[in-house]
Amino acid sequence: MKSILVTGGCGFIGSNFVRLLLQNDGALLSESGYDRLINLDALTYAGNRANLTEFEDSQSYRFVEGDICDQALVSSLLEENEVDTIVHFAAESHVDRSIDGPEPFVQTNVVGTLRLLQAAKGRWESLDDVRRDAFRFLHVSTDEVYGTLAPDDPAFCEATPYAPNSPYSASKASSDFLVRAYFHTYGMPVVTTNCSNNYGPYQFPEKLIPLVLLNALEGKPLPIYGDGKQIRDWLYVEDHCTGILAALTKGQLGETYCVGGRSEMENIQIVRRICAILDELRPASENPNLEGNNSYDDLITYVKDRPGHDRRYAINCGRIEAECGWNPAETFDTGIRKTVEWYLENKDWCQDIAEKKYARERLGTG
Ligand code: NAD
Repeated sequence: MKSILVTGGCGFIGSNFVRLLLQNDGALLSESGYDRLINLDALTYAGNRANLTEFEDSQSYRFVEGDICDQALVSSLLEENEVDTIVHFAAESHVDRSIDGPEPFVQTNVVGTLRLLQAAKGRWESLDDVRRDAFRFLHVSTDEVYGTLAPDDPAFCEATPYAPNSPYSASKASSDFLVRAYFHTYGMPVVTTNCSNNYGPYQFPEKLIPLVLLNALEGKPLPIYGDGKQIRDWLYVEDHCTGILAALTKGQLGETYCVGGRSEMENIQIVRRICAILDELRPASENPNLEGNNSYDDLITYVKDRPGHDRRYAINCGRIEAECGWNPAETFDTGIRKTVEWYLENKDWCQDIAEKKYARERLGTG
């Protein structure tokens, strides 16, 4: 028996990763050499078990509600499920929340990652030579650890010095350093990915794209921080998931891989693009919530900028392309259209999220 443990699998990217492995009767899971996927998630406000309802009865899937900070729980899960691969998504992930209250970010992102590493080390050390060699710990991190770029600076790459500017990115940077230390100190087989902004299905409406989409449909203001000219690189979430798999199976141990979509865009451009697609697919004239507006972009409202807001992120993903043979399948144009269509087609999911009162009052791009 061979199992993979995914942490934070009920969140946005984690649930897309679990779906990628389990869809089509678990074709990719078994192709990758695993019998079972264990999803450990604490179900914070950002975790939604219903994202994966369709797999609940599958023999290849087990959901466990629990905290990565609970080292005894993680150790017993690793043991009883014969886990030899861990893909670590669980985190507090929203920059605005980290500004309002940094402590949970240190607790989950730093302490939680440390406890998970300790449990993983115990499991790894207990294995026979063959399974020890095959063991992997894949840490999912962000490009925000590199800080901010001036307009003409070259894109971030694996050699860019860390310069985190928000409590969120500082906590992720700390977790990256702990993962690195477990490789250099104990020889643990770890790989880290640092990815740019993701978008796609199942993203909570506190982040820019789903927030704008759902507010627009409800005829609510579309809040834009500052001048809206902050630049991010955007990657469709399924492409991030295939990048993680590529780094997991082909990445060099102890190394980091930058993952991005080669799609640098200003926030305001993103918002206008979403409005244009909505104008086409769900014209304002047919939406009773938009009385008096000709177009969704009439709803755009500029608000006070976020403190310490990084101006530009860009990613050079040449290394993962060259070493792991990975390329994004979607351009921004194809990915954003799929995303808008998904939100339009999945009204029940959006309704459930709204009813659970996920924080939607603030705009986030982190
Ligand atoms: P998310 O906030 O949507 O999901 C996080 C998940 O982790 C939730 O299901 C939550 O319940 C779970 N969780 C939180 N604390 C936990 C704990 N202590 N124990 C167990 N589970 C816990 O986040 P996301 O956007 O899916 O991001 C996933 C990972 O990818 C994070 O590590 C994030 O830093 C990284 N990342 C995100 C982006 C992005 O654009 N969203 C980009 C690059 C990297």
